[in-house]
Amino acid sequence: MKKQTVAFSRQSTNLFFHILTRCNLRCAHCYINRDQHGSNTLSLDTIKAWLGIFSSKAKDTNLIFLGGEPTLHPDLASAIGIAESMGFKSITVDTNGFLFHNILDNITPNQIDFFSFSLDGVSKEINDAIRGDGCFDAVMSGIRRAVEKGFACSMIYTVSEKNIHEVPKLPELVKDLGISRFFIQVVGMRGETENTDARHQVLKPVWSSTIPKTAEQIAQQGIIVTYPKVFLTHEETFECAANVADNYFIFPNGRVYQCPLCEDFPFHSYEIINNQLMPRPKINEKDLFSLQIPEGCVMNKLIQPGNISYDDNQFPRYKIACCMLKEELYP
Ligand code: SF4
Ligand code: SF4
Repeated sequence: MKKQTVAFSRQSTNLFFHILTRCNLRCAHCYINRDQHGSNTLSLDTIKAWLGIFSSKAKDTNLIFLGGEPTLHPDLASAIGIAESMGFKSITVDTNGFLFHNILDNITPNQIDFFSFSLDGVSKEINDAIRGDGCFDAVMSGIRRAVEKGFACSMIYTVSEKNIHEVPKLPELVKDLGISRFFIQVVGMRGETENTDARHQVLKPVWSSTIPKTAEQIAQQGIIVTYPKVFLTHEETFECAANVADNYFIFPNGRVYQCPLCEDFPFHSYEIINNQLMPRPKINEKDLFSLQIPEGCVMNKLIQPGNISYDDNQFPRYKIACCMLKEELYP
């Protein structure tokens, strides 16, 4: 098994494209903030025009269709067709598993690289307490149907205090499910939901004693596993992805962020105006990216300082890594 920290790189671009913010669910930790990102559903013409902004580097760009729930968009299949014709390096659809508009029948497995399914509990009880009644059955059935039709599938598990106790059961759950990639994420203190119960972040000792071990067990089943590094020692190098990588988080009101932790604020670096990507005047998120603090990520310290711990001299015991820094395990 090979383990590596995925280095940030400007060689490839990641386009996280929220084509709508509407969703059929109200997950407790939902990061979508409709006050900031509106309730717009982009027309197919606009999706095409916005993809066109990035088409000159499409062959080096990973495109991820997001929502809300992207399969609620009636033209998702056509949008995938357009992206395919533009030659994007990879196309992924992140879904909550309900797979609206018969999406599995309206595209073919060779049109996309992955359907990525979100699941937040190994039991119905825990998953549905976070994501809503019926979600566990819907996502498991969605995965089985997609795998049966020949689509490559991955799973995303967002870890919080509410569901970390079920993480050790994940290897058993994914056994024989047919997924080829597994993504572990850490819950973020953002979004519009007022129910903060499921958003409590996990402290370092619990994270370190649970996540890497389970990730290995999942990878032993032939699945590529990706999980965030979250904590860095003072000897390890801290890098802000916004300074050294090429990521765009696009929202349907035209806001474009480079940092997902900034999404609750009008700090976006760019805005799409008349189908052109325009830089925004100061002050915006770019002004934060070069700041150096002993705690590591500046935005983390501003919006979720509860995951930092200090010694008696008020010096942080570790740094918080960029939320986009990942470890990857290859079976
Ligand atoms: S987290 Fe995703 S699936 Fe859940 S409510 Fe938010 S957009 Fe919908
Ligand atoms: S999460 Fe922190 S380190 Fe990463 S891009 Fe945002 S501000 Fe930079």
